[in-house]
Amino acid sequence: MPADPVAIVRDLVRCPSVTPAEGGALAYLEGVLKGAGFTVQRPRFVEPGTAEIENLYARIGTGSPHLVFAGHTDVVPPGDTAAWSHGPFAGEVADGVLYGRGAVDMKGAVGCFVAAALDHLAANGGKPKGSLSFLITGDEEDIAVNGTVKLLKWAAESGERFDHCLLGEPSNPQALGDAVKVGRRGSLGGTLVVRGRQGHVAYPHLADNPIRGLVRLIGALLAEPLDQGSKHFDPSNLEFTSIDVGNRTVNLIPAEAKARFNIRFNDHHSQASLKTLIEHRAGSAAGPARWRIDWEPSNADVFLTKPGPFLDLVVDAVAEVTGRKPQLSTSGGTSDARFIKDYCPVIEFGLVGETMHQVDERIAVDDLVRLTAIYRRILERYLA
Ligand SMILES: [Zn+2]
Repeated sequence: MPADPVAIVRDLVRCPSVTPAEGGALAYLEGVLKGAGFTVQRPRFVEPGTAEIENLYARIGTGSPHLVFAGHTDVVPPGDTAAWSHGPFAGEVADGVLYGRGAVDMKGAVGCFVAAALDHLAANGGKPKGSLSFLITGDEEDIAVNGTVKLLKWAAESGERFDHCLLGEPSNPQALGDAVKVGRRGSLGGTLVVRGRQGHVAYPHLADNPIRGLVRLIGALLAEPLDQGSKHFDPSNLEFTSIDVGNRTVNLIPAEAKARFNIRFNDHHSQASLKTLIEHRAGSAAGPARWRIDWEPSNADVFLTKPGPFLDLVVDAVAEVTGRKPQLSTSGGTSDARFIKDYCPVIEFGLVGETMHQVDERIAVDDLVRLTAIYRRILERYLA
């Protein structure tokens, strides 16, 4: 009897694992995976000022190649539970659709991969050729400091080496088979600060209004695109997110004005080259304005997983089950793939992201069945 992904996903959804709560989700996985012969460890990580987080690492097999499936069992809060048509932690199925927080992001994919792994092991005498691991965190949706970053480091220090990683984040915009994610843009934020001299609004010649300089600089930074995009990436984009003076007085010229911005950047840039480019453009347009940029630290560099047999294998599995050739995408926000890529090549394929983080987050049962079939094919060929 093949494993039932719907039952596994339903059981996971019933665990109220809003970050940082474990909610029973990792304990559940531990039970299922131990039953299938995995060695399971549950490292906990903590830092001053943060909640202690439970994580899970499970491995079966000792040989190579070694495939690791990565994901998270924590979920965002349900919001107004009365607005849900089915309880956010009830795991109810209605008209062929499973409802619940995390159904899409990403207990769904975790459950499908567990089902695929159980099927694969059952078909191969309980042991894989090569090695198969689960790297599951309870800290992805919030500040993500006691999760994948530390778990990867912990695994490396324990001697774990991965050949490839499949991350199960929802990768499809509208339908299963839309897209496989092969990279992510980088993210860099900063605050543009212009200093002036405070004064009376009726005597502007005695003051120096920093808003004039700020507006000029904002205009200059938005005037030209950062690039035209690259082979695998959309054009980089700089977006201002807030303009702040904080001046409540009508007849006062303020002393300082600030504007916050975020850049999502492609593989034409590094963080360093981007800072140089932005500061050069600001410097050229500033005129007499006294300005600086306070850059925020960022751990989100751009990356691209190069084409190769692993990518082909994933793409073929998706195409065979869905009848569609998935796009190789690098769009969207950042994910834990930005940390994993420092250890091994990583590709993302999961469910359809349309309802993630929404009220009535849900997924078609048929999608769960088909994603399990895709994962099963990947395992059959990778561990052949
Ligand atoms: Zn997620």
